[in-house]
Amino acid sequence: MKRLQGQTALITGASSGLGQGIALAMAREGAQICINYSHSQEGAEETLQEIESFGGKAMIVQADVSKQPAVKAMFQKTIQTFGTVDILVSNAGIQKDASFLDMSLEDWQKVLDINLTGQFLCAQEAAREFMRRGIVKERSQAAGKIICMSSVHDIIPWAGHINYATTKGGVLMFMKTLAQELSPYKIRVNALSPGAIKTRINESVWKDEHERKQLLKLIPYQRIGEPEDIGKAAVWLASDESDYVQGQTIYVDGGMTLYPGFVDNG
Ligand code: NAD
Repeated sequence: MKRLQGQTALITGASSGLGQGIALAMAREGAQICINYSHSQEGAEETLQEIESFGGKAMIVQADVSKQPAVKAMFQKTIQTFGTVDILVSNAGIQKDASFLDMSLEDWQKVLDINLTGQFLCAQEAAREFMRRGIVKERSQAAGKIICMSSVHDIIPWAGHINYATTKGGVLMFMKTLAQELSPYKIRVNALSPGAIKTRINESVWKDEHERKQLLKLIPYQRIGEPEDIGKAAVWLASDESDYVQGQTIYVDGGMTLYPGFVDNG
């Protein structure tokens, strides 16, 4: 029996990077996938084709997660097609970097809108659907699962990225508060906090040899992560194997949060 057999997973930003990796991993475990994208239809098609190549089922929905009517329409389309939603992976996120003094209000706001308000809008629609449907024992012990994509920067401050780090710190408390509030309805809410994973969000770092070496100094486990590392953790967090895990952040970071600067006595 596959671990997510018959469940529907809606994954935001699944046209690239971690979202794509999670979509493939969940589809391999038997979930039918709503592949959300904002701009890259090509990327979404790539995710779809790969899922179909191993006999999985998926659909594509374009939506900007920071816009409520678009988010509502995305859930409606998914429910019309697959009957319900069992798992939400709120993965969509962006960076717009600048030093604090140079950061424009526009770039501050844009990152908050997508990384934080997007989580609110998607989780609200998901929770409403989970509560309407309730538990279906054949599929899962929970009425629904929400996985919020956070980052090690929910606890590691990050100069030059104050908008991004602020949103991830916000995701931490959003996730915990939501888990507390939705627990009585048997809805599980948890977060994944990746360290450095090879995707286009950070390709300027891992493609440059000098920058790559500098980055490895921050990773005790001495390798940059792959989207599959996050896919595996997401499958576990969405499956009943983690049924008693509630309101937690799982750091998938090769030890980046272990204060590697202190390895030589600080
Ligand atoms: P990515 O740029 O490949 O993926 C981001 C995805 O979000 C894209 O598919 C993009 O289309 C989508 N997106 C952006 N704006 C959107 C919007 N308004 N509506 C819907 N979708 C939108 O980068 P990634 O590394 O795969 O990032 C995915 C998530 O993982 C982000 O939340 C990011 O903060 C988080 N993360 C990544 C790393 C890493 O090292 N790659 C580390 C920690 C956290």
